[in-house]
Amino acid sequence: MKTPLLAALALLLTALPAHALPAAGVQAEAREMFAKIVSYPSVAGTPAVGQLTDYLAGEFRKAGFAPADIEIVNADGHPGLIVTLRGKSKKPPILFLSHMDVVDAKREQWTSDPYTLTERDGALYGRGTVDNKYGLLTQAQAFIRLKREGFVPDRDLILAFSGDEEVDGISARALAQRLKGAAYALNSDAGGGSHGKDGSTSYAIQAGEKTYASFELTTRNPGGHSSRPRPDNAVYELARVLTRLETYRFPAHWNPVIVQGLQAQLPSLQGPMKEAVSAFIAAPSQQTADAIAAIDPAAFPELRTTCVATMLRGGIVENALANDATATVNCRILPGETVAETRATLARVAADEKLEIKPLGNPLESPLSDLPLEVRAALAKQLPPGTRITPYIEAGATDGLYFRSAGVPTVGVGPLIETEGGNYNYHGIDERVPLSEFNAGLDHYYRLAKALAGGK
Ligand SMILES: [Zn+2]
Repeated sequence: MKTPLLAALALLLTALPAHALPAAGVQAEAREMFAKIVSYPSVAGTPAVGQLTDYLAGEFRKAGFAPADIEIVNADGHPGLIVTLRGKSKKPPILFLSHMDVVDAKREQWTSDPYTLTERDGALYGRGTVDNKYGLLTQAQAFIRLKREGFVPDRDLILAFSGDEEVDGISARALAQRLKGAAYALNSDAGGGSHGKDGSTSYAIQAGEKTYASFELTTRNPGGHSSRPRPDNAVYELARVLTRLETYRFPAHWNPVIVQGLQAQLPSLQGPMKEAVSAFIAAPSQQTADAIAAIDPAAFPELRTTCVATMLRGGIVENALANDATATVNCRILPGETVAETRATLARVAADEKLEIKPLGNPLESPLSDLPLEVRAALAKQLPPGTRITPYIEAGATDGLYFRSAGVPTVGVGPLIETEGGNYNYHGIDERVPLSEFNAGLDHYYRLAKALAGGK
C-alpha cells in the first residue's frame, strides 16, 4: 500500500547518501559474528581452521543456503569453503575471496587475549581483525543478508574462503582450479581506502602482484685437503657470483596501472624523491626510473623485479676444500615477466658457466588483471563523493595470485577505509580495527554484490 507518508519515506531512503552507515541491526549482528570468527585461533595447519570453516558453513545453512550450495573443500588437509548464491543466468560467476587463517599470536605479548575480541579505546582488538577476518566477515555477511532478503543475482555469486593463505596457499590453488572460468574475483585481502589528513579520501585497487620465486645457486669443486688450496674454489666462485648479483638492477617495467599508482603516492612524497617520481610520471623511461632507484633502491619495488640472496651454505668441515657452496636467492617478479626469464637473467649476470641454478618449489606466474570497469564504477558510486580511485601493484603475495594464474582477473578491493597514519598492526601485536571504520565498511560487499549482479 502506498500512502503519501510511505512514499515520502521511500524518497527519503533513496535520497540517503550512498556512504551512509549500515543499520544498527546489521552492526550488532556483525559485531557478534566477528567475535565468534576471531575466537578461533585459526593458524594454518591447526584444527581451528576446520572449526571456523564448520562454524561459517553452519551460519550459511541457518541463513537458508541449500546444503548443495555450501561445500567444504579439503586440499591436502587445508580446508576451504565455497558458498554459492544462485543466480538467474549461466553468465560466468563473480567470486568473493577471503582467507580464514591467521598468523599466530602469543598471549603474553598482547595487552588482551588475541583470540577474544576486545573493545578498548574505540577499537576492536584481536588477531585477524584486519588481516583478514574483517574481509571474511563482510563477505560472509553480505551473502547472508542477500539470501535472507531473497535477492537473486543475475548470475551466480560465489564465496571462496581459503585456509592457508599465510603459509603455502594450497587451498587457494585448489579453489582457483575449481572455480576457473569465473568472470572475475574480488579479493578482500588487498586494496582499500584511506582517509587523508587533508580530509580527502582515496581508494586503491590491487590489480597485480609480484610472483614469488626462489632459486638455489650452487658451485661445485672436486675438493681436497685445505693444506693444498687449488686455483678453483666453490666458496670463492659463489662469492663472486653473489657480488655480481648484488650490484645488478633489473630493468624497470611499467604500464598505466603502475604509473597511476605512483601518481597516487605523489602527495605523500617530499624533496628529491618527489621530483624524481614526478619526472618519471611525466616521461616514464629507464632513465627516469633509474633516477628514483639512485635516491633509494628500496623505493617503489613495483617498478622492477628484484632478487636478493637470503641463505648460504657450503663445506662440511673446517680443514677440507668445499665440494659445493649454495646460496638461496629469492626473487619477486613483476607481473608479465616469467620465472624462466628471471632465471636466465640470473645466469647471465652470474657469468659463471658451471654455476647450477635450481628453482625451488613450484613458482607461479601471475598476469596483471584487467580492471573490470564495472567494479570501478560500482566503487565510485558507493565510496564517499570525490574519492580518488587508483589501481596498484603489490610487492607481497595474496591468494589473488592463484586465481590470476588460473585465468580469473582478480582485483583487491578491501572493505576498510583506514585513517592515514593509523596503526592497525597487521600480523603484529595488538592487531586492531577502529570501531568507526569497522561499522563504516560493513555494507561494502553487500552493495558491490547488488550493483554488480543486477540488484538495485
Ligand atoms: Zn591476509
